[in-house]
Amino acid sequence: IKIFKSINLEVVTRFAPSPTGYLHIGGARTAIFNYLYAMKHNGKYLVRIEDTDKKRSTKEAVQAIHDGLNWLKINSKEEIVYQSSRLNSHIKVAYELLEKGYAYKCYLSTDELQELRNKSREKGIPIKSPWRNKSTNDLNENYVIRLKMPTEGSTIINDLVQGEVSVKNEILDDMVILRSDNTPTYMLSSVVDDYEMGVTHIIRGDDHLNNAFRQIQIIKYMSWKEPFYAHIPLIHGTDGSKLSKRHGATNVFEYNNMGYLSHAMFSYLLQLGWSSNNEEDYQISRAVKLFDIKKINKSPSKFDIKKLNNINSKFLKELEISEVFNLVSKSFNLNLNQLEKNRLLGLLPELLKRVNLYTEIRDDIEWITNKDFICKEEVHKETLETNSIMFKEISLLLKNCTWSKDKIDITLKEYIVDKNLKFKDIGYPLRIALTGKPNAPDLVSVIYELGCEIVINRLNYQY
Ligand code: GLU
Repeated sequence: IKIFKSINLEVVTRFAPSPTGYLHIGGARTAIFNYLYAMKHNGKYLVRIEDTDKKRSTKEAVQAIHDGLNWLKINSKEEIVYQSSRLNSHIKVAYELLEKGYAYKCYLSTDELQELRNKSREKGIPIKSPWRNKSTNDLNENYVIRLKMPTEGSTIINDLVQGEVSVKNEILDDMVILRSDNTPTYMLSSVVDDYEMGVTHIIRGDDHLNNAFRQIQIIKYMSWKEPFYAHIPLIHGTDGSKLSKRHGATNVFEYNNMGYLSHAMFSYLLQLGWSSNNEEDYQISRAVKLFDIKKINKSPSKFDIKKLNNINSKFLKELEISEVFNLVSKSFNLNLNQLEKNRLLGLLPELLKRVNLYTEIRDDIEWITNKDFICKEEVHKETLETNSIMFKEISLLLKNCTWSKDKIDITLKEYIVDKNLKFKDIGYPLRIALTGKPNAPDLVSVIYELGCEIVINRLNYQY
């Protein structure tokens, strides 16, 4: 019967970020796990923006969450739920709990509360207001509603990642569920929303495990069906400390601006704390197929930008050149004519060999697309002046050379032999003259793709 039931149960997951900061690496990974779990089980994946903290929530952060999810292609197909639009439902539940005797009005003044807090801390006992046991319940309007936590026994959660975890109920605070200004707390809102949205699986960071023991009391008191929990270990920096800005915990969408591929980020985040067959490349559909929540590691994973760079570099080289061209073009706002475009398309495979991110070729755009480009850098002046004769000689040879990579190669080699030089004697100065930099890609490709006219103009410039 149990198996039959679970087959019929539609899986509903949700990603519930607070728009008080940006969608960072950890949040994005939580979203990925929620997305994959739901898709794997042909269920629903919902997004709920927990924006009840009006002071700290910003429109920009909401936008950044959507941008990040869109970029990673894990946005929800369902309507986005904004928690702030659901306050009445939360308040209703608070009063229902009150009516049923599972919650109470607490009239402690700020000073009294402080005193109670100090006492609790000293004695190492949870906060329980003296109002918990009073029968008068309607003194004035100045109250908060607290949940009457059970005091005996234990609360056990069979977490899908952590296994069986439990706490003794005697350590639970009588938490506030409704503030004196009639606003619900996160602890209440989140539970009510999960229930009313039909969420069956709560997959989130394990910094919320302590909340789960408290939130589940509301669920029990309301006789709602308990959801499954999966608390996933947090992501740390390579030094083992909690991931912070210093480790790259910035807005995940920033990685798009930096030149990371969405597919690389998705694959990397997926591997962070989860592994199947040690694969590196996860197309979303394949990830859905392979995803198994049991394979989420129990220990924190480390965000390693070098690994992400490696993956990005590999995927970048596997992309169609036209696709890379589109990314570059969009990222640098290029507006090229056909000839300029052809030169860039021709040189892109060479440029990509040497980078992890397509944005790293930013400095190469000018010498490739601008046909009138001339190196004007002071540091290279001497090189350019002292080699002007060699430039002229080579330009003459190239002028009469059939324009193919082979013929260009042979022409340069014959020149070296003829003059009893080494390749670097001409390679270095030629690169400076043609590209403005000593570390440009393969010289023959550079000459071939720039074309005869441009090469000859650059080699004959009077410095
Ligand atoms: N809004 C919470 C957060 O961003 C998540 C709450 C939850 O997943 O239950 O940390």
